[in-house]
Amino acid sequence: MIEMPNGIAPDQCLIGGQWRPPAGGEYLDLLNPSDGSTLCAIARGTSADVDAAVDSAKAALNGDWGAATAVERGRILTKISQHVLKHVDLLATLEAQDVGKPLTQARNDAIALARYLEFYGGAADKVHGQTIPYMEGYTVYTLREPHGVTGHIVPWNYPMQIIGRSVGAALAMGNACVLKPAEEACLTALAFAEIARDAGLPDGALNVVSGLGAEAGAALSTHKDVHHISFTGSVGVGKLIQKAAAENIVPVTLELGGKSPQVVFADADLDAALPFLVNAGIQNAGQTCSASSRILVQDSLLDEVTTRMIEAYGALIAAPALEDKHVGPLVSHRQKAIVNSFLEQGADLTIAAQGVISDSAPDTGAYVAPTLFADVAPDHSLAQDEIFGPVGCIIGFDTDEEAVQIANDSRYGLAGCIETADAATGYAMALNI
Ligand code: NAD
Repeated sequence: MIEMPNGIAPDQCLIGGQWRPPAGGEYLDLLNPSDGSTLCAIARGTSADVDAAVDSAKAALNGDWGAATAVERGRILTKISQHVLKHVDLLATLEAQDVGKPLTQARNDAIALARYLEFYGGAADKVHGQTIPYMEGYTVYTLREPHGVTGHIVPWNYPMQIIGRSVGAALAMGNACVLKPAEEACLTALAFAEIARDAGLPDGALNVVSGLGAEAGAALSTHKDVHHISFTGSVGVGKLIQKAAAENIVPVTLELGGKSPQVVFADADLDAALPFLVNAGIQNAGQTCSASSRILVQDSLLDEVTTRMIEAYGALIAAPALEDKHVGPLVSHRQKAIVNSFLEQGADLTIAAQGVISDSAPDTGAYVAPTLFADVAPDHSLAQDEIFGPVGCIIGFDTDEEAVQIANDSRYGLAGCIETADAATGYAMALNI
C-alpha cells in the first residue's frame, strides 16, 4: 500500500495544475525492490503528454507564473519547502518503498529537498545583472532572464535531491518546468508536485510526465519549445541528451556519474575517517554518483585500514528498506544484474570482506551483499568503472605524486575526498586531484 499526499493517484500526469491520465491510456508497473511486489501503476506518458505539458508551461509563463516577481517566486519556494518538511515522513516512506533506500537515508533526502527549495527561495531575488561602463553616450547593462520552458530528466537514485536542485533553481529564476522522473522510481516526484501545487505554485509552473526514457524522456529532450535541459543519469543517455540539445541549440546541464577517490594519508585520524570511508561507498547501496568507491591508502597505513575496513564491511547488513539497516536492495533486478557482472569481473581478486543479506530479505528482492576488495590494481575494471553498487576497492600508494596519479587515472571527474591531519597536504591535494 502506498499513501500519496492528498490521496492523489500515482498513475496520472500533472499538466496545467490538473492530474490526468496519460493520453495513450497505457500504464507501467512500479516495483518495490525490497520484495519484487508491484507497488502501483504509473502513467506511461508519451509525446502527446509531453506536448501538453510544454504547452501548459508556456501558458504559465504568459500567465500568473510569468508575472510573479522574483521576491514572490522566492516566497512561494520557501512555502513549498515548509510544506515538504511537513511531509518528510510520507516522502521518506514512498522513497524507501520505491528506490529501496533505507528509511533514514530517504528521510535525509526529503530534508535535503526542503533545504534546496529554501536555498533557492532565498536566492530568487539575489541573482543580479551588471552595469558596464562602455563608452560615453551608452548605457550598457545585462538583464538576467529565465530560459522559458525547462526540461528536467531525473534518475532513480536520488529523485528528491536532484529535483530540489534542478527544479528548485529553475523555478527560482522564473522558468516553467516539465519534469520526467525515472520509470524505476517516480513516486516522490509525483508527491512533490502535489505538495508544491497545494502550497500555491501556479498551475503549469511545474508539470510532471512519468514514463519510459525512450518515449517521454526522448520527447522532452527533443522538444522544440524546451529551452534548457537538465539531465542526471548514465553517460550513454547523457550523450543523446547533449545531441538533442545541440540540434535545438539550447543549453544543457549534465551530471553523468563518477568513480570518486578517497585518499587516505598516513597521518589521517582513522577513528574519524573510517565511518566516512565506509558510508560514502555504501550509502544508497552504492548507487550514488559521488560514491567513494576507490579507497586509496598510503602504504604505511594500508594494513591497518584494510583490517578495520574488513571488520566494518563484515558487519554491514542488507535488508528491506523499511527495516532501515545499513543497506537496502538495489533499485531493480536489472541494476543487481549490472553489479553482479562487475563482481564476476573481480573473480581474479580475493574478496576481503562481505556483509550479510538479512534473513528477512525475500529472495524476490534485488539484494547484493556489500563487498570489499583489497589490494586492487588501479587499472582493474573494478577500479575504473562506475559500478553503482555496494562495492569498495582498496588501492595502496606510496608518495603524494603517486596518489595524485592514481586518483586522476579515471575517465570520470566528479568528486574526491582527502583524509589527512595536515591542512596544507589537504589543500595541495585538492588542487591536484
Ligand atoms: P539512464 O540514464 O537510462 O536513466 C536516467 C533518466 O534518463 C531516467 O529518467 C530515464 O527515463 C531517462 N532516459 C533514458 N533514456 C532516455 C532517452 N533516450 N532520452 C531521454 N531520457 C532518457 O540511467 P539508468 O539506466 O537508470 O542507470 C544506468 C547506469 O547509469 C547506472 O548503472 C549508473 O552507472 C548510471 N546512473 C548515474 C546516475 C547519476 O547520478 N549520475 C543516476 C542513475 C544512473
